Amino acid sequence: MMDLRTVMLLVFMALCHLAWISDVSGASADGALQLNETIQSYDANRYLDILEDRDGTLTISDMGKPEIAERFAHNDGRIPGYGYTKSVYWAKLELDNRTFQRQWLLNIDQPPMDKIDMYVSDGSGQWLFKRTGDAYPFAEREVRNPDFSFYLDIGPDETKTVFLRFETEGAMIFPVKLATPVKHAEQQKAMDLLMGASFGILVVMSVYNTILAFLLRSRTYAYYVFINAIAALLYASLNGMAYQYLWPEAVWWNNRAIVFFICLAHIAALLFSRNFLKLDRYFPNIHRLFTWFILIELANIAVLFANYSAGLRLAACMLVLIDLTIVGVGVASLWKGFMPARFFMAGWGVFMIGSVLTLLADAGMLPQIFHIRYASQVGSVFEAIVLSLGLAARIQSMRVEKEQAEAMLIQSKQQAESDFLTGLYSRRYIVGQFEALQSFPDSRSFSLLLMDIDFFKRINDTYGHETGDSILKQFAAIIRGSLPEKGIAARFGGEEFVILLPDCDMRSAYGVAERLLDSVRKYPFRAGEISIPCSASIGVAEWKGSELESFESCVRRADYALYEAKKIGRDRVCVAARQKRSMAEDAVALPSE
Ligand code: GH3
Ligand code: MG
Ligand code: MG
Repeated sequence: MMDLRTVMLLVFMALCHLAWISDVSGASADGALQLNETIQSYDANRYLDILEDRDGTLTISDMGKPEIAERFAHNDGRIPGYGYTKSVYWAKLELDNRTFQRQWLLNIDQPPMDKIDMYVSDGSGQWLFKRTGDAYPFAEREVRNPDFSFYLDIGPDETKTVFLRFETEGAMIFPVKLATPVKHAEQQKAMDLLMGASFGILVVMSVYNTILAFLLRSRTYAYYVFINAIAALLYASLNGMAYQYLWPEAVWWNNRAIVFFICLAHIAALLFSRNFLKLDRYFPNIHRLFTWFILIELANIAVLFANYSAGLRLAACMLVLIDLTIVGVGVASLWKGFMPARFFMAGWGVFMIGSVLTLLADAGMLPQIFHIRYASQVGSVFEAIVLSLGLAARIQSMRVEKEQAEAMLIQSKQQAESDFLTGLYSRRYIVGQFEALQSFPDSRSFSLLLMDIDFFKRINDTYGHETGDSILKQFAAIIRGSLPEKGIAARFGGEEFVILLPDCDMRSAYGVAERLLDSVRKYPFRAGEISIPCSASIGVAEWKGSELESFESCVRRADYALYEAKKIGRDRVCVAARQKRSMAEDAVALPSE
């Protein structure tokens, strides 16, 4: 899947390149725009004279007045951009056609523009009037594209004056382009390809990650899908495709859609970031702050529907605040060593910084260097792909964390289950095994040996505690060596061991105990050069497989037998009596049956 994503990224970048290089602009001198045979597409921005009409009261008949004419200022060649303004803007363009091409398209690539009026001189002092903009239903458009175009008729060697009037509640940006219809269609095709690819990628990533969200039951994946779906709708609104294909009649809604989706995109981004960066664990205060941001974004939506320009301004402030906070907390997470944050920063950081720059440029605080509309869309596709890689990395890091935690759990369980000095099982473990043996539905009898080293205190006293420890380990080795297949041996405490013998009645247990003592007798215990003869005594208790008996009670019986063994001379095995017979009797009676 990783490869597929990389391929998508590369194909997409190639398409972006295609879309940009096809956007040819030309002609040399300022003043009138000369149309000539060799060039079919012109960037008209630097031929514009522009006038700000603060209260929007001027009409086309005012344009002829000298006092108005002298208020026009020549545009420096950049894309005209004046931020969020209530003013109306007028642009004047002189055309000088040196070609046989009669029909041209005048294009304004700013889909959110509310109203565009075009007046073209017809040579007889009259003005030909056309209008467009997203304040009018889509069906009224002369050219049915997501952006705005007018047909312009201009004869060979004819000059024409064009006035454009712009009015909008959004960003006042109006890049003006002139092209032959054929050339325009070509460029549109490249742009359609780019748009198709970017929406295609967003859709594929959304579907793929929706499946993952279900398979992995992961909320982070669900938020990621939410972000992509909203991003797709936001960009479709920004570049006019949503208006063309999704809601061509809904003028009122269309004007609010962009800000509405910005708010939703922020809610999605906040939810996703909170989850992806595990803020509740690493930065609980920021986690709480994000909750507030989400509430403010919800309020922003309400404000937007009540008062568009207030909603727009609030959204713009929140965009800067939220994006910077998210980028900041991403950096802080990296700082803390949360590695998946690398992808988060790569995917999100670039996109978010880009969107802040776009906003500042839209607001007129930064120059419109090139048309950023596509840049941020490319950014969002880039973000979708990289974040998807990030999600995979995050899953991987969570898996590693989980494995580490499991390993620690197993280790600590083993530690609890085994005796630190001898490596035999611990008392706690053998209690569990004892109870497990009893709880089998058809549990048969088993036996328990309690073994105690004889005069161990003396060994300690004579040779020291360390030697004592070494002797304990040697005993453990003997026990391990002579244990029957199913037998379980544990250090009971001090110099006592307990051995559980499943499926083993008293007689067989006695045999096991005897063989064990034999091994002890034969074993050459030593501490360095010194040999230390050792012996041990064993008490045996049998559980018959019918009544329930506690571990403690069974050990008590074995301990009693052990006590008997010690009493009658040590280095021997005694068995616990079930009836009131004496232990010694039992001990002697059994082997000689
Ligand atoms: P008996 O034959 O009656 O069992 O005599 P004993 O000396 O073996 O019995 P006692 O219970 O009096 O002494 C047990 C000694 O075991 C006392 C204690 O210091 C020693 N001991 C207990 N745990 C350890 C241990 O982990 N290492 C060492 N080196 N000694 C231990
Ligand atoms: Mg002892
Ligand atoms: Mg003892």
